[in-house]
Amino acid sequence: MKINFIDLQAQYQRYKEEIDKEIHEVLDSSGYIMGPKVSELEANLANFVGVKHAIACSSGTDALILALMAIGIQPGDEIITTPFTFIATAETIAFLGAKPVFVDIDEQSYNIDPALIEAKITDKTKAIMPVSLFGQISDMDAVNAVAKKHNLKVIEDAAQSFGAVYKDVKSCNLSDLACTSFFPAKPLGCYGDGGAVFTNDDTLAETLRIILNHGQTKRYVHSHVGINGRLDAIQAGVLNVKLKYYDEEITKREAIAHRYSADLKNVIVPHVPDNSRSVWAQYCIRVKDRDAMLKKCSDKGVPTGVYYPIPLHLQEVFHALGYKEGDFPITEEVSKDIMALPMSAFLSEEEQNYIIEVVNG
Ligand SMILES: *Cc1c(COP(=O)(O)O)cnc(C)c1O
Repeated sequence: MKINFIDLQAQYQRYKEEIDKEIHEVLDSSGYIMGPKVSELEANLANFVGVKHAIACSSGTDALILALMAIGIQPGDEIITTPFTFIATAETIAFLGAKPVFVDIDEQSYNIDPALIEAKITDKTKAIMPVSLFGQISDMDAVNAVAKKHNLKVIEDAAQSFGAVYKDVKSCNLSDLACTSFFPAKPLGCYGDGGAVFTNDDTLAETLRIILNHGQTKRYVHSHVGINGRLDAIQAGVLNVKLKYYDEEITKREAIAHRYSADLKNVIVPHVPDNSRSVWAQYCIRVKDRDAMLKKCSDKGVPTGVYYPIPLHLQEVFHALGYKEGDFPITEEVSKDIMALPMSAFLSEEEQNYIIEVVNG
């Protein structure tokens, strides 16, 4: 049996006719960047989330840069986030000359522990950037409460959580700004790079649209320093098709996750509170001897991943921030024994039976 970590090919085959049609329409139109398909996508995304503005852009990384630029982040500003995330979360902060200030995670959700945020706030703090890791939203009520008390902005790094729900509200509608990614391996992926920024604030939305196109207000009239953060029409076409089936796919991912959690033995399975719906960007377990488990899986043809083996505060690139081993005990502990199993809406029952047998065996 050949098992894929994420079965993108099965998904393409399922929607092939519609996706090919969208792509060919773009090829025939010769309008390759932005344009009507991107506007249609933005309307569809905003409608799906229930948020006022969705601004499509070139990647999740650029979405984070755009959000930070839109709130005027300057060199020397501090942004509070978690060290247990993909590099882009803190990299974008550092890219703008600001300082990522890390806070340890909660051991159940692997998301930022809101109780530890307040102690890290200084007069330079401008924003909090919680990450909704592995598809599960951070405790946004608690994060927003600290932010409100200290007059800080909140940017949800929702690169892994588009479609997730927290207390009846969808990810990307729970903060001043939210950023997602449509990288192919994300729960909702396109066929290249793509992303989006979300907000209910009209002024921020307008600023974001200007910044993502070189700070341009009218053709060759520039009011801001911006970037080339535009989305391709082909990617928008692919996403417009996939979004129609996304809810169905989330339900399938959920069923697969619940089955793993019910049948796996002697491992720590993910915890999702009753008031939350995860989109299962990753299905991660914690195991006693990870090297042995990874080898067993690899020997038996079960692909796995490790998210994330080196916490950000211990990465060479952030050496100058002055963190050391022991600073974030929960992050460090989890990074040593966590691993991800295959997850996609197209994982068959037979494949999942085999994976469970191998992990339990
Ligand atoms: C994937 C990811 C990003 C970056 O998204 P890209 O589209 O790959 O640039 C940012 N943050 C997190 C948590 C991610 O998982």
